Amino acid sequence: MKTANGHEIIQLFEQFSPKGLAMEGDKIGLQIGRLNKKIEKVMIALDVLEEVIDEAIEKQVQLIIAHHPPIFRPLKNVLTDTVQGRMIEKLIKHDIAVYAAHTNLDVAAGGVNDLLAEALELANPEVLVPTFETNLKKVVIYTPESHAEAIRQALGKSGAGFIGNYSHCTFSAEGTGRFLPEAGTNPYIGEQGQLESVDEVRIETIVPEHLIKKVVSAMIKAHPYEEVAYDVYPIENKGEVLGLGKIGTVDEMTLGEFVEKVKMALEVDKVRVVGDLTSKVKKVAVLGGDGNKYFKHAKFRGADVYVTGDIYYHTAHDAMMEGLNIIDPGHNVEKIMKKGVTKTLTKMCKESGYEVEIFPSEVNTDPFQYI
Ligand SMILES: [Zn+2]
Repeated sequence: MKTANGHEIIQLFEQFSPKGLAMEGDKIGLQIGRLNKKIEKVMIALDVLEEVIDEAIEKQVQLIIAHHPPIFRPLKNVLTDTVQGRMIEKLIKHDIAVYAAHTNLDVAAGGVNDLLAEALELANPEVLVPTFETNLKKVVIYTPESHAEAIRQALGKSGAGFIGNYSHCTFSAEGTGRFLPEAGTNPYIGEQGQLESVDEVRIETIVPEHLIKKVVSAMIKAHPYEEVAYDVYPIENKGEVLGLGKIGTVDEMTLGEFVEKVKMALEVDKVRVVGDLTSKVKKVAVLGGDGNKYFKHAKFRGADVYVTGDIYYHTAHDAMMEGLNIIDPGHNVEKIMKKGVTKTLTKMCKESGYEVEIFPSEVNTDPFQYI
């Protein structure tokens, strides 16, 4: 086990939640502080409020990964007798970096919307509002037969070869590799100055663009050659569709029963509901955060109920007239990301051999009380 620096932790995090998935104009990435330092403790937060910063100071955290960017509108100044200025001052004084993953974390596989769909036990969840199609690359590797299986495993394990719900998809063909080790080489097979021919296997697979570096380095690790022969090709095929929200099904129940399920699953005491509590619910759309803009997507996709936060009075009227039930459990249900990201990033750090403690912030940042 080794101590990681901030860049290494964020590099792993961005494999899970790539910046390229964010909506245009979103304020993501490192917002405050620096990453070129040792990281022993990372705290995962939904919002960066002053109480959250105090918690980070108390727990001696070096990095906060937050869903909501603490700096959203451009700052004109940093005055330390204002709340925002004081917060930034505290963070900098204690050398705590803040990194924001907002809409990219909503969209990421295993991100906010996937976590919500999972909590609500949606069957066959699909993306509600597609925003992103993954570009794919083709990777071709030449290896001696002895290492072909290890390389196929390394490829599969690092995320290559996903086609739909099939993983570890590769194609292999046998052939002959030829090479001449020049002066200064230390060949795994053959000798310096002698033309060598070897029975080799050509392995090909597809890789989502954002995983290329990870896959190639895992493959090179598993490959015996000093100089690995491999090609990366651009291809036209598109991979997984990602986007905001999820739509799936639950066992048929009444809206009233589903309300109780939502409260339990998302850990809220009270929700706002639009619709007839005795109406039947089977198809469910869910979108973390403010989903006003997308209620028509939910209706169009045939949802019986739309679970989202920050619903306006007029959106509620529109949905009511369209016959779409709504459950608004509040924006704060995105708190689900605290545990979700903690789990994913802990696993990734462990696999990379990093000794780092990752934990969710314990501060409740919901500004509302339901009385
Ligand atoms: Zn949000």
